[in-house]
Amino acid sequence: MNEISAPRPNNLDAFWMPFTDNKYFKANPRLLYRAEGMSYFTPEGREVLDGTAGLWCCNAGHGRREITEAIQKQAALMDFAPTFNLGHPIAFEAAARVAEMTPDGIDRVFFTNSGSESADTALKIALAYHKARRESSRVRLVGRERGYHGVGFGGITVGGIGPNRKQFGALLPYADHLPHTHLPAKNAFSRGQPEHGAELADALEAIVALHGAETIAAVMVEPVAGSTGVLVPPLGYLQRLRELCTRHGILLIFDEVITGFGRLGTNFGSERLGVTPDIITMAKGLTNAAVPMGAVATSQTVYDTIVDGVAGGIELFHGYTYSGHPLASAAAVATLELHRAEDLPGRARAIEPYWQDAIHSLKDRPNVIDTRDFGLIGGIELAPRPGKPGTRAMDIFRRCFDAGVLVRVTGDIVALSPPLIVERPHVDRLIGTLADAITAEA
Ligand code: PLP
Repeated sequence: MNEISAPRPNNLDAFWMPFTDNKYFKANPRLLYRAEGMSYFTPEGREVLDGTAGLWCCNAGHGRREITEAIQKQAALMDFAPTFNLGHPIAFEAAARVAEMTPDGIDRVFFTNSGSESADTALKIALAYHKARRESSRVRLVGRERGYHGVGFGGITVGGIGPNRKQFGALLPYADHLPHTHLPAKNAFSRGQPEHGAELADALEAIVALHGAETIAAVMVEPVAGSTGVLVPPLGYLQRLRELCTRHGILLIFDEVITGFGRLGTNFGSERLGVTPDIITMAKGLTNAAVPMGAVATSQTVYDTIVDGVAGGIELFHGYTYSGHPLASAAAVATLELHRAEDLPGRARAIEPYWQDAIHSLKDRPNVIDTRDFGLIGGIELAPRPGKPGTRAMDIFRRCFDAGVLVRVTGDIVALSPPLIVERPHVDRLIGTLADAITAEA
């Protein structure tokens, strides 16, 4: 079907859209209909350059034939099979592929269906680990201000984005938060990792002093905080967090839902940052988002502790009907093969200097108060309009979309994360359109 005959919904009422101003959208709908390579296309056939890899997830670009065919083939062979006390080959293959990409020693893989489920799964694994070691008092979970770990109860408990928590009451009690790492007075316009702020990790010592290490199960952070608007870890910060967690017997969980699968120029962010956590959560790029899937990879120690901790029977009372779903597994295997064959992390690394220059070229545009980058991520922070926070960036988002470029905004920050197949002319168009929109909204 081509764009001319693309179906247009005549009723937008029923779909309660996520994280959306439903009233505004339904009065001013912006629809996407088709996608290919670096671009989306609207039902009218207008091309929109994708500056955000969908939602940080289509790292290999859109409409990859290899992934589509793998899904089709698997759907025809076997649509679904349970993974509770049964198995199917493609799920084991997908897990082995993931384990090949994760840092050495992090090679046991639990499948979920999303980043949110991965966050909750990782936190539950951390609790089960301490219980298996007869340290049942370790139930406190530590996150970070401005952190995003999806929308499950575990994820919002450690998450640190106010509106995502406040609407839902008191939540789980045993959580504490490290300070965020955004220090604009010292680090504004940093290229790559900012210089200042490693000492912010020491706040974990204060939490330990307050509650006792024997009450703390895990610390969960994003290596690069994405959803809050691109906060790059200061040099040495994650190393310090690793040391403190090890010293106090606390598991360190990296939420790599956006930094996994090449975004920082390496398979996982841990590799680029030189810090290995105990548990890594992932989703999005795992299947190139063609079928929902997430995963949690743990160290062998964590796995062995839980699995060897019981004499027989089920070891972990956790799992999803769709853990290791055949279609998702097929999509993952095909996606990870594309990553290997096309060296997508290498492509990201190669274009990173050009990308970095392009992001920082926006620093003199009106109202730009910070530009930041790391890997193939860019953040442009704007001064809010007096009394109307968020409206400037939202108007820029709409202006860019209407000019044929998709960007993402969060508060007054524009966050960019193009597919890893991006080329210089795409970068020029993306940044050029954004620059014009920023100027127009001055
Ligand atoms: N964790 C991080 C770091 C994320 O960026 C996201 C989504 O953006 C999630 C978790 C949640 O993933 P999902 O929306 O697939 O549940």
